[in-house]
Amino acid sequence: MMDTLYLLLFMLIILVGSVVTYIYYLKDKKEQLDAIKRGFCPRCHHNAIELTDQRSGGCSAPKILSFECTACGYANSFSVQGGGGCGL
Ligand SMILES: [Zn+2]
Repeated sequence: MMDTLYLLLFMLIILVGSVVTYIYYLKDKKEQLDAIKRGFCPRCHHNAIELTDQRSGGCSAPKILSFECTACGYANSFSVQGGGGCGL
């Protein structure tokens, strides 16, 4: 009985831990994208961000935008919800 309880508790901790990590990851990603949208690098804060790649998976699929900083080499890609879609 106690073994099951510990196992459940352990699984709950793992679950909560991964959810919290995921939320922090998304929050961090959003802050980085906000910085890039304002035109500066989230790492070195230089105005040297360039859009290196832009891919779309289809009309309703999110766009994958890749950015690179020419000053410090920071590179990241973000999926952005494509507003509007096709033919509207
Ligand atoms: Zn940079």
